[in-house]
Formats: sequence, structure tokens, C-alpha cells
Amino acid sequence: MAAHNVFPESRPPNPSARQACTTEVLLTPPKQRIVIVSNRLPIILDRCDGTGWGAKPAAGGLVAALRPILRESGGLWVGWPGAADVDDTDLAEVGEHLAANDNLRMRAVQLSSEEIDGFYQGFSNGIVWPLFHGMPKICSFSPDHWRAYSQVNRKFAEVLAREAAPDDFLWVHDYHLMLLGRELGRLRVPNRRGFFLHIPFPSLDLFLKLPWRQQIMDGLLSFDLIAFQTERDRQNFLQCANTLAERCLVAWDGKQVVRGRFLERAAAADKAGRDIQTETLPISIDYSKVAKDAASDAVQQRARQLRVDLQGRAMVLGVDRLDYTKGILHRLRAFQLALDRHAKLRGQMTLVQHLVPSREKISDYAKLRRNVEQLVSEINGQFTEPGWVPIHYMYHSLSWEDLLAHYRIASIALITPLKDGMNLVAKEYCAAQVDEDGVLILSEFAGAAAELKTGALLVNPHDIASTAESIYQAFIMPKDERLERMRRLRRTIRNHDVFDWAEAFLSAARHKASVALGVQESPRRATITVTG
Ligand code: UDP
Repeated sequence: MAAHNVFPESRPPNPSARQACTTEVLLTPPKQRIVIVSNRLPIILDRCDGTGWGAKPAAGGLVAALRPILRESGGLWVGWPGAADVDDTDLAEVGEHLAANDNLRMRAVQLSSEEIDGFYQGFSNGIVWPLFHGMPKICSFSPDHWRAYSQVNRKFAEVLAREAAPDDFLWVHDYHLMLLGRELGRLRVPNRRGFFLHIPFPSLDLFLKLPWRQQIMDGLLSFDLIAFQTERDRQNFLQCANTLAERCLVAWDGKQVVRGRFLERAAAADKAGRDIQTETLPISIDYSKVAKDAASDAVQQRARQLRVDLQGRAMVLGVDRLDYTKGILHRLRAFQLALDRHAKLRGQMTLVQHLVPSREKISDYAKLRRNVEQLVSEINGQFTEPGWVPIHYMYHSLSWEDLLAHYRIASIALITPLKDGMNLVAKEYCAAQVDEDGVLILSEFAGAAAELKTGALLVNPHDIASTAESIYQAFIMPKDERLERMRRLRRTIRNHDVFDWAEAFLSAARHKASVALGVQESPRRATITVTG
């Protein structure tokens, strides 16, 4: 049985609103240059023997969505190139090579290996990642990591101070760069700036545990626009802002907080203030590309092979980066219980679990891998019969075609994170169901649940028994119900793809700019009305 959805409504996909937004963007091409800022540049670097560095553009929906925007606006991408010991000359060569091939202008922020350890492994992935995903016990609140995080955010600001023209709009991405607004302010960089958080924003009780909560909040409040994956994340942020920012007023539109108005301390005497716009903008995928590629000959051929390998059994698919937020152990326990309770499933379904290597230098990840492998072998030891092994487990990355072939033939996608900003695998699985026949079992705690709850079977991954029943329910679901649910899911994702998401962010940023323009005679007393 589907579990009760605990999430508040996200903004419903609205095709006509989307149309209006798209039209506006098309009619008024961005005159302003956009500068994208993210921890990593969208490239994969390779050291070529004796010939310096080689690079290829990174794949993925985010890069695909942002590339045309950068091209149109003549903007650039600023980030760390992904290797510690790349010198300026190497970077210039790589940059030129990529600019020529990909028409994407980039500026690198160089980091030493100590900085990467402290800023990336230490603070970003050792503190912010677990805390914001609701796992404070995993955090090691080291002041050294905080210093590295501040230092690297300052470095990013210095590069932007050099590279950005005053009119450029800076679009900063994700939890690695939450202090960047503050550092830009210190350097008196005048640019308007927006921030998108790809991961969840924690509840007040969790956020308050962070020893540097005040600095992080001040950093976030230095942006003009802050956007979140879900309405819950946005509400969490506003509650934290209201608690921590001395003079942050929160406005309500009947039931919901719609905006935060932050009165800067410096301007407190005359009650002047600055509005900070907040938005809920769930990220998405390049739906058309996924659907088109999933129907390609290469993918169909690979899918046929997989079907033969499975000997006609139903595939239950798990695809995750190895990460403790993904709920892999809970999922395995639920699958084990489903087999235990429903003998009918034995020999009839196979869990194909791909784990993509990730953050291998962090000890919690290595430990999780050992635990997963132990549990897989326990379950296989318990249920394997001649000719059938219940779990096929692989620790590797998949090629795009292989991944799509898995999506296509999986009868059930079992996506059960304990907490996830969005979960793009869930959306990709649905987009790849060109036959519209597949069941999505999705955790309530994935950001995607807010949009996909009407078609997916939602589960609480902590409730192993109920997740096991959902696996059984998915297995016996009648075909017409499967088709109906999948159609709904695909429609939702098609109506709100990654291009729509990017346009919505920039359109929100433009809206703010145009309102601000209207109050220029009295900018310090701006009573700007900005809808959330
Ligand atoms: N993915 C990948 N290599 C693989 C398997 C998956 O690059 O071997 C991609 C997948 O297509 C998806 C992304 O990794 O776009 C995972 O995104 P998601 O939001 O689900 O989770 P994240 O890893 O960002 O936490």
C-alpha cells in the first residue's frame, strides 16, 4: 500500500504558465551576460602522457540546460577544473581547446590538494552534506575544515571580481559555495546574484547544530535570489533565516511564507532594507533526449540482451551513487522481507542493484560499501535457488546506453533515499519508459516525490515492512493501472524539463531586476513586492 505523503504541495506543473514563461524568455533574449559558478567546471580532465592535460565536456542535464544560456548571453562558467595540480598554462590550453570545440567559455579556480581536502572532502562533504541530509551524527565539525571552506569561497570571489563585468548576473550553484555572496560583498563586487541549492535545506533544529550557522546564513542572505528544490526546503530556509538573521521579516500570504525581507544591519537605523526573493524550482532532466535515446537501436539491442540474461524474470532496478543518503541498506532489507513474506516472488523477480563509486576517500563511504556487500551476500545466501540469484549487484559506472537499457526493461524502479534533494534517476526512469509500462517506487524523502506522488508508489524507506509490501503491490499491479500511473508521471516530467527549470530561475531573476528598477528613486526604502 502506498504510504501517506508527508510533503506539502510543490508548485504544480502548469503548462500554460510554462508557455508564458517560455514566451517571455524567447521574446526578450537575455541582454545580460550570465556567469555560472559551481564547484566543478563542466569538464572531465585527463592527464595525457607527456602532453599535458586533455579535457572533454561533462555530460548531464544541468550542463545541457546551461550551455545554450551561456552561449546566447555570451557568458562564462567559473569553477574548479577537477584536479589539484593544474597550472595556469595548462588551464589556458584546456580552456582554449574547450572553447573552440564546445563554444563554452570557462575560468578556472585553482585549488591546492590541502584546500580540496578541507573545503571539498572536509567541510562540503563531511559537514554540510550529512547535516543537510538529516544525518548530524556523521558530521565532524572541524574548525580547520571551516577555514578551508571560507578560504576557497574567497578564492572563488576573487576570480569573479576579476572576471565578471558589473552588469553580469551571477548564478551560483550548490552547497559548496554558500559563503560566496558574503565574500563578493566584502570585495565590493556589485553584481546581482542568485543561488540554487541542489540538496535539501535542513529544518531549524538541524541547521542550528552547525557551529558556523550564523556565517552561512549571512552568506546566503547576501544573494538577491535563492531557489530551492521543494517548498519544504524553502520553508525550512525561511524559518532559519527568521531565527538567525536579526532583522529578517517574513511575510505570509494567508498560509505560507512567501518572501523574506532582510533588513541589513548597516541600514537598520533608518529601517531601510533589501528584499531577498526565494523560489521553489524543482530541477529536472532533458526529457526529450532521454526518451529519444531510450528508443534508439543501440539501447533496444542492449535491452534485448538484458532480457535474455534475466531469463524472462521481472527486473527490480536500483541505481545509486554509493552514498549513505540513498537508503541502500534499507532497500535491501525491504527486498529481503518481500521475498520472505511472499514466496510467489521467489524465482520471479531479480533486484539488479548498480552502485556507482563515489567519494571513496571518505571512510564512511568505504564502510557503507562493505556493509552493502555483506548484506547482498546474506540475502543471496538465504534465497538463491538453482538458476536464480535474487540480487545482481555491481559496483561500477554504467554507460549512458547501458543505463537506459536497464531503465527500459526494469518492471519496477526501487528508489528509496533516506533524503535526497531531487533524485534525477527517478525522473530518467520515467522518461525512458517509452512503452509506458513500469512502476516507480519512490521514497517520500526524495525531492522528486513532491511532483511525482500522483503516479509513483510512495514509501517511507524507514518502514521496511511497508516498503516490502509496496514491492509486492508493484509486482501484482494490473497493466492498466501501471500504464495510467506511468503516463501521469511522464506528463509531469515532460511539462517541466530542465530547460523549463533554467528559464524559470532566470525569469525570476529578471522579474526582480525589473521591479527593482521601478523603485530607483528610493532604492534604500524599496518596498518591493516579490511573489514567492
Ligand atoms: N548516472 C551516471 N553514471 C552512472 C549511473 C547514473 O552518471 O553509472 C547519472 C544518472 O543518469 C543521474 C545521476 O547520475 O543523472 C544521478 O543523479 P541523482 O539526482 O539521482 O543522484 P545524485 O548522484 O546526484 O545524488
